[in-house]
Amino acid sequence: MGKKKKLTSILGQPVGNDQASLTTGKPPFTLLGDTHLIEKLAHFNRERIPERVVHAKGAGAYGYFEVTHDVSKYTCASFLSEVGKKTEVFARFSTVGGEKGSADSERDPRGFAVKFYTDEGNYDMVGNNTPVFFIRDAIKFPDFIHTQKRDPVKNTKDPDMFWDFLSLTPESIHQVTILFSDRGTPAGYRNINGYGSHTFMMYKNQEDYCWVKIHFKTEQGIKNLTMEEAGELAGKDPDHATRDLFDSIEQGDYPSWKVYIQVMTPEQAREYKFDPFDVTKVWFQSEFPLIPVGRMVLNRNPVNYFTDVEQAAFSPGNFVPGIWASPDKMLQGRMFAYPDTHRHRLGVNHHQISVNAPRAANPLSYQRDGTMSNFQVGAPNYYPNTMEEVEVSPEKLPPSLEVGDGVQRSEYELKEVDFVQAGELYRRVMSEQDRKNLVKNIAAHLQNAQERIQYRQTALFFKADENYGAEVGKALGIDMDRVKKLAALDQEERVAATE
Ligand code: NDP
Repeated sequence: MGKKKKLTSILGQPVGNDQASLTTGKPPFTLLGDTHLIEKLAHFNRERIPERVVHAKGAGAYGYFEVTHDVSKYTCASFLSEVGKKTEVFARFSTVGGEKGSADSERDPRGFAVKFYTDEGNYDMVGNNTPVFFIRDAIKFPDFIHTQKRDPVKNTKDPDMFWDFLSLTPESIHQVTILFSDRGTPAGYRNINGYGSHTFMMYKNQEDYCWVKIHFKTEQGIKNLTMEEAGELAGKDPDHATRDLFDSIEQGDYPSWKVYIQVMTPEQAREYKFDPFDVTKVWFQSEFPLIPVGRMVLNRNPVNYFTDVEQAAFSPGNFVPGIWASPDKMLQGRMFAYPDTHRHRLGVNHHQISVNAPRAANPLSYQRDGTMSNFQVGAPNYYPNTMEEVEVSPEKLPPSLEVGDGVQRSEYELKEVDFVQAGELYRRVMSEQDRKNLVKNIAAHLQNAQERIQYRQTALFFKADENYGAEVGKALGIDMDRVKKLAALDQEERVAATE
């Protein structure tokens, strides 16, 4: 041990005694004048900030992204401009529905968020380990999440809520199929792929753009837990994925992902058999092959969990020139919701917290003040001005898009095509063992819901693939003739028949 460090107050004043409160009398009464005691207790009382309403339990690390292939024909993004260019990143992985103390092995999609500190500002890729999502309109999101959380009366998770909503939301069938495969219980954060899920725009200039999907493929290989293994780990080692990420980086075994894009031209988008902006759909890789872009390596653990991971603030609306949004209704809603939650949890100056602050870019903005403002330059504080030489960058703007006229609440109409991709996954992609585990995982959960809900949901599996529905029905021990009849109805009739 070297020279001992001096304990101080939060303001750097030497502490004379940190074990006894200031008191008077025998027996002693504590004095309000003990400012050191009061500060300790008051600060402790305020240690918790609002928990993220989704993605509360997570782990994160720093690293870098390196361009390995030339994609400059698709985008003018500076951080993608040349092979070999490296950009610092911070990545956060998470479960979705569980609270901050919940088990890492719970069945859930895994959040996969990456902040790129680019030389043209921060770009966030805020995705999941699944390429699709349960719903395709943000207006359904609060209801959907309520059903994955706790019953408002009993404060317990409720299979009725869970399956009632999903069976009333048939567009969820693709994501439900992925969630209940063993990919819904990954062995660790290092063993998952990441997907931007939404469709994004990449553009070179105001005339030249394409649509892209983003894929991060794990170099550690996909590894999943069975339902039994996940259940056991939840009790024995609820933080196993958090520990695995931290320990592997600490030991110099740096996790890495290869990054790819799929590219669709605006003309192809107009003609594709699936709505290319519908987040419940993928683009088939045989039609839109994966194009390699780069590699992400995580090689530095945060020094402090709270400052870097708990306060990390990502937004799918944080774009840099060369990348922009698409007309995906979920993405449009998330672009509001994420910054809004950060303003609530961390305050209006959350971008000043070190993990969120731009590093490679020099911000010059005239936004000022607000709580917890840590650094900002003085005057001027308005634009335009003639006090300093400052200009905007119109050449960096994305292309303007033609949109039809009219303002309406345009609902997605449920179509047969909405069942195709879940069926493809079941029939074409999954192995025999994957299918067995999928059916077992579904039945173990769905059997706890009311029987009428079991019927309604099994009819949706049947619509995705007849064998899929039949296997689930068999595992639940329900009447398959009734399932088939329900599957033949349209959704409104099916709901009426199972009310
Ligand atoms: P391919 O047949 O070309 O490839 C299959 C894809 O499925 C791979 O990306 C594979 O990921 C992934 N996969 C394997 N098992 C599962 C699982 N249990 N849950 C989720 N994904 C899994 O795919 P297609 O493009 O022809 O699409 C067929 C189906 O594959 C889709 O309907 C969709 O369900 C699924 N899929 C498609 C993706 C896409 O972007 N097109 C992405 C992910 C899934 P890996 O190679 O890393 O093992």
